[in-house]
Amino acid sequence: MDPPLKKLKTQEPIIKTIDTYINKMRESKENLHAVLGDDFTKPIPLIKVYAGHVKNPKDLSRIILTLNEKVPLKELSHLKRVRKREVILCPIDCLNGVSIQQYLEVNVQNLYDVFEYFREIEVPMYAPKVKKQCNMLAWSYNFHPNMYYEKLVSDDFFSVNEMNIHKKYMEIAFVCAKWYIQEHNRYITDLLDMNITLVIDPLVKSNSVVAISCNNENHPIQHSAMVAIDNVAKTQKGGVWNVSDNTVYNLKGIDEKLHQHLTEIYPEENFGARNYMSKDEASDCDSSDGPYLCTGYYIYMIKEPCVMCSMALVHARAKRIFYTFPNELCGALCSKVKLQSVPSLNHRFEVFTGFL
Ligand SMILES: [Zn+2]
Repeated sequence: MDPPLKKLKTQEPIIKTIDTYINKMRESKENLHAVLGDDFTKPIPLIKVYAGHVKNPKDLSRIILTLNEKVPLKELSHLKRVRKREVILCPIDCLNGVSIQQYLEVNVQNLYDVFEYFREIEVPMYAPKVKKQCNMLAWSYNFHPNMYYEKLVSDDFFSVNEMNIHKKYMEIAFVCAKWYIQEHNRYITDLLDMNITLVIDPLVKSNSVVAISCNNENHPIQHSAMVAIDNVAKTQKGGVWNVSDNTVYNLKGIDEKLHQHLTEIYPEENFGARNYMSKDEASDCDSSDGPYLCTGYYIYMIKEPCVMCSMALVHARAKRIFYTFPNELCGALCSKVKLQSVPSLNHRFEVFTGFL
């Protein structure tokens, strides 16, 4: 076995690296940025439609009324149907091999002679989510900017005060990494070989640290976020890992020695969860806080979580995930996939990064 001094020596470089990260993060003036799905960031795909040029502008309102009744645009309802003397008739792939003239004769007989000519045009397939996506679009459409979305894509989503709070919690995650390396003799040469998760309740006493975890390198699924969720469960009289009949439950999902260490460095910090409310109690008092493990909680992680962990955070209903380093191998919030933008999932958290 290595003598203690040698152990300390081997840990020195990584501890120094972590300190460098902490200092860099403190000095950074950059705001965090939201990791958003393609529906926020990519140009809207275009679809080909037939438009008819109306012979007499006086007929326009009658034409529109008839078209809306007989051949409504359905999926293209975000589009304004008319522009000057041009009217959208239908998407090209609706025609099923017939000409646009034949299509009108079958579907809207009384409009067969009101158009001077027809032409194919390209229009946006769906409505843009934010103003940035609007510039490149040709045809007029209904767009009402959502102020929250606009802020989300801006460069100043968080106020200076909020940024200080987020940076503090990410810093605590780095401090915990140092603690685990030193207290548990973790030999790592690259910080990305481990991960720390910090679970914060933003609603308690202006933020409270509910749970902290480090991944267990000797266990196939005890990744940091999975352990963190289990630690949160322990604050709610649950949990499956390292529990026994003698387990004394409390409201802190944090190693007691680590908790002591952190209170010395951050004496002002609050620790612990709100009093646990069972599913029945939550429904009795019509609370919107439960009943899921991480409802409303913010999660701070050194490294982007994998698919398993990200999905577990979806199930636990985490509200926001913050991470520092991308996990290029298997990250599920940006690197390989953006789980937060999968439409079929019934819960979506927000994801922010950009600490360094
Ligand atoms: Zn994972």
